[in-house]
Amino acid sequence: MEVKALQSRIAGKVTVATDAGYEDLRRELIWNQLTPMRYPQVVVQVASEQDVVEAVRFARRQNMKISVRGGGHSWVGFFLCNGSLLIDLGQLNRVAIDHQTRTATIQPAVTGQALNQRLAPHGLAFPVGHCQTVPMSGYLLNGGLGWNWNTWGPACFSVEAANVVLADGNLVVANQEQHADLLWAIRGAGPGFFGVVTQYVLKLYPMPRAITTSIYYYPLERIEEVGAWAEEIAGQLPPEVELTMFCAQAPSAFAEECRFNKGFVCMLCATGFFDTSDEAAAILSLLETCPVISNCLGKDVNQPTIMAALLDMGGRFWPELHRCLADTLWSNSSPEQQLAAVRDAFLQGPSEKSLALCAFSTGGEHRVAVRPDAAFSMTARTLLLCYALWERPEDDDANRAWHRETIVALNRFAVGYYVGESDIIEEPVRAERSFAPANWQRLQALRRTYDPDGLFNGHFGTG
Ligand SMILES: Cc1cc2nc3c(=O)[nH]c(=O)nc-3n(C[C@H](O)[C@H](O)[C@H](O)COP(=O)(O)OP(=O)(O)OC[C@H]3O[C@@H](n4cnc5c(N)ncnc54)[C@H](O)[C@@H]3O)c2cc1C
Repeated sequence: MEVKALQSRIAGKVTVATDAGYEDLRRELIWNQLTPMRYPQVVVQVASEQDVVEAVRFARRQNMKISVRGGGHSWVGFFLCNGSLLIDLGQLNRVAIDHQTRTATIQPAVTGQALNQRLAPHGLAFPVGHCQTVPMSGYLLNGGLGWNWNTWGPACFSVEAANVVLADGNLVVANQEQHADLLWAIRGAGPGFFGVVTQYVLKLYPMPRAITTSIYYYPLERIEEVGAWAEEIAGQLPPEVELTMFCAQAPSAFAEECRFNKGFVCMLCATGFFDTSDEAAAILSLLETCPVISNCLGKDVNQPTIMAALLDMGGRFWPELHRCLADTLWSNSSPEQQLAAVRDAFLQGPSEKSLALCAFSTGGEHRVAVRPDAAFSMTARTLLLCYALWERPEDDDANRAWHRETIVALNRFAVGYYVGESDIIEEPVRAERSFAPANWQRLQALRRTYDPDGLFNGHFGTG
């Protein structure tokens, strides 16, 4: 293999599987400490868009499959594929804001936090992921269920254009005028995308001036009643309210009351993206109507919350340097039943750090919104996410077994999945069921057109 020839043509760095630093690098590339046992043959840490072009052309010549890493946050490490040439975009993290057109041009590895830091001082916003560290690269391709997604939509619908290096080694621009079908695919194809996105152009939004959060803590025994009522109010709340219920570790203030539930608490969190605090308080007052409010352990209502604080709050639920398994399902079943099943599973679980959340679609009769035509095409009344989180390798087997059992138990509620946070390696059918049937078919057809030789590892491409 002419690896030296590739190194001489790029500004970035080439590492092969036999190099001394290879294993450390492989492990550093993935956010999850539970590193899959899959080994790329070559890792190309690109320093520019032109490096990507060179790497793709090299892989073609060498008849090697390509996998792509944006920021390495995929739970299952999709980009770690045996024998592949891995293009790591982690160094491409520039941001440019155009105030006139209200757009941001970003390189893929920019995180939600970095983007928000550039936008917030100018009163601008983007539906970034819920934790600071989530990179835009794969998040946007997945669909991007970020802050205020009931109003701003899944983030992929705010991608106006993208630069893409195709399987033939050419760099093209995809927008509504040219390669519109590629733009269609970028909006939601997830890890099955058949090219390398080297730049996104994003539509920006005015930052709401009075983002306001109310949080209520209930004993875990009340999770069904709170869930049933939350489903009712989700239908009445405007889309500007993001409404989520958690089964999570209780804050220390309620630790004693939650002792008999392994420290887990039922947390109801509502964030309103409004322009005045009066409007926010008036709408969030609906949360006081919970029929079991007298059982509430504590609450923190109508807190002014800047976007950076929301990102910080998200980060606390998904701590760094942990081992984790994740799965997600869209559901139209009663949240009461879903959350009861979650509670029963969590009381039997091996890790008290694990976490489940049920996000409600809000927005009255339009709550399960029809979006413009794009690959992203799965939605329902709720999105249920279940994460096993732990630290010690010796607890891997117990957590794996528990997470699998829990996912199987919750599966009866699923109408579909979210490609970005489902284990489509363990269960490949979840990739297809993350899309409406016609959208899945179109995605496969576009893949055959743009990547006829199957150069890019697809949804199932773990090789
Ligand atoms: C702590 C945490 C919080 C999260 N929060 C949210 C959230 O709020 N909302 C949400 O929707 N998701 C969330 N996610 C999931 C997130 O969407 C995915 O992990 C996503 O893959 C992150 O992007 P990445 O660039 O790190 O992807 P990577 O792990 O780098 O890549 C995953 C796959 O995406 C593809 N890919 C990535 N970038 C490119 C590119 N530029 N060109 C071509 N293919 C590419 C490749 O197939 C790659 O294998 C979260 C994940 C974590 C770990």
